[in-house]
Amino acid sequence: MKTVDSYNFSGKRALIRVDFNVPLNEKLEITDDNRLKAALPTIKKILADGGSVVLMSHLGRPKEGPEDKFSLRHVVPYLSDKLGVQVQFAGDCIGAEASEKSSALKSGEVLVLENLRFYKEETKGDVDFAKKLSVHGDVWVNDAFGTAHRAHASTAVIAQFYDDKICGKVIEAELVNAEKVLKTGEKPLTAIMGGAKIGDKILIIENMIDKVDNLIIGGGMAYTFMKAQGGNIGQSLCQEENLDLALSLIEKAKNKGVNLLLPVDTMAADSFDNDAKTKVCDIMDIPDDYQGLDIGPKSIELFKEVVIKSKTILWNGPMGVFEFPTFAVGTNAIAAYVVEATENGGFSLIGGGDSAAAVNILGYGDQVSYISTGGGALLEYMEGKVLPGVAALEQ
Ligand code: AMP
Repeated sequence: MKTVDSYNFSGKRALIRVDFNVPLNEKLEITDDNRLKAALPTIKKILADGGSVVLMSHLGRPKEGPEDKFSLRHVVPYLSDKLGVQVQFAGDCIGAEASEKSSALKSGEVLVLENLRFYKEETKGDVDFAKKLSVHGDVWVNDAFGTAHRAHASTAVIAQFYDDKICGKVIEAELVNAEKVLKTGEKPLTAIMGGAKIGDKILIIENMIDKVDNLIIGGGMAYTFMKAQGGNIGQSLCQEENLDLALSLIEKAKNKGVNLLLPVDTMAADSFDNDAKTKVCDIMDIPDDYQGLDIGPKSIELFKEVVIKSKTILWNGPMGVFEFPTFAVGTNAIAAYVVEATENGGFSLIGGGDSAAAVNILGYGDQVSYISTGGGALLEYMEGKVLPGVAALEQ
């Protein structure tokens, strides 16, 4: 695979698929710039070589063509500021205006194309659409890890129009860090899985059981495991259709000698509300009118023992409904223990999505080893799947 650092972009126009899918508030201001920040090193390297840059991305989920709230023009001032150049913008990603602007680019110049998903052809992986996009660059760089698990026009299909397909620094870092968990992780290796649905995470849990020493399961998905073992979980989240699967995962962990840790207690609430009445309960004995919204203090202690001694950690998914401060205690505690393990020389990879948000909100962003920029893509990679956006980079 060709990488950005191994390629000389002098005199080349690089068409880069970036992940600029950033949240915007009602005033259309960027509320989290992590994805934009992550894209800067690849862009800067190309400009420093004497190349020019055309950026293409999606933003949000537009339904029927162009909508201002999903326009990529909202990221242009940010990029101009961070790159120190007047970044140009084309109000479409294909067509005359876009190709006139991209073909006029001079060395050191940057152009942002309008949202790819204003065309349904993008997600359909339409070949003609990919061809129209390909006129904007002499070389294609993929640096959008967040969409690398999708075979869209700009993330994979476009590769056929290029001799030079180059792996951007974000994707390179994601792959290197994922390998540190999957292949070269020092032991003890611990996976911490949380979040709402076990259905979404079964495959990764199954794949990780073959690799980890410890598997910690918290968050909403833990209650399915408790119910499967005969527990009374009250109104807690439960995926009835996955009860058997939960039992088989427990069995599989036992057979593989994996130390599977489930919560022993829970912070239960009488409603799904930050101000609900709460009580700490045994996780197998939650009153009928209560629901578990966070792990309890004994579980925090139990998990702490394992997390702080781990040398490699993969964390995906919060331990409770961390959006409510009352039920963020377990997630915050685990974040602090992951930081402690990292300070003790361990390697910690935080899966994208909510666990990444929690770590960043708590200000621990730079105290863990790596925060993934891709939720679904990281999970699929960890499941052992081939990512189309990565496969497309192979020469
Ligand atoms: P996921 O996208 O599967 O990682 O799930 C993240 C979501 O799980 C967050 O929005 C949390 O609020 C939610 N969650 C975590 N623990 C619980 C719980 N005990 N009950 C309900 N939702 C939960």
